[in-house]
Amino acid sequence: MEKTLVILKPSAIERGLAGEIISRFQKKGLTIVGMKMMQLDERLLREHYAHLVERPFFPWILASMMATPVIVMCLKGNDAIRVVRLMTGATNGREALPGTIRGDFSLSGQENIVHASSSVEDAEVEIKRFFSDDEIYDWTPQGVRFIYAPDEV
Ligand code: ADP
Repeated sequence: MEKTLVILKPSAIERGLAGEIISRFQKKGLTIVGMKMMQLDERLLREHYAHLVERPFFPWILASMMATPVIVMCLKGNDAIRVVRLMTGATNGREALPGTIRGDFSLSGQENIVHASSSVEDAEVEIKRFFSDDEIYDWTPQGVRFIYAPDEV
């Protein structure tokens, strides 16, 4: 099964949306295999958003992502990376479809509530960036047969 990284950004923490968002992932059937609160710093963010460091708005991203502690999560499930991206919605909350997390809770391209890994390669690197091996618990819920058909597990 795939694992993906989710960050509940300061826009989620400050607005008291963490529980609601965690609940959506759980109700979908995804398994939480890692979760903690942490304060991000500039070094980690320059690595995580390396594709954006040259953009003029990068200082705003830094300030935004360091504004409060964040909650980082590792979620496990069949096709979890694609499923979580679909649940997250388009980058800009004003364009994200209703029913997605950003579509329901964000009006911004920057203050967009969650980060979610965008590919298998990124997920692997990002999980290692935010978690040590012993912080990931590779457990499977007892009721997995009520979430997947036998050939989907
Ligand atoms: P995504 O988070 O959907 O994978 P990106 O990797 O392109 O999107 O961008 C990372 C984060 O940087 C976004 O989630 C958003 O918070 C911020 N960001 C992206 N583009 C802009 C922009 N034009 N203005 C302000 N913030 C932006």
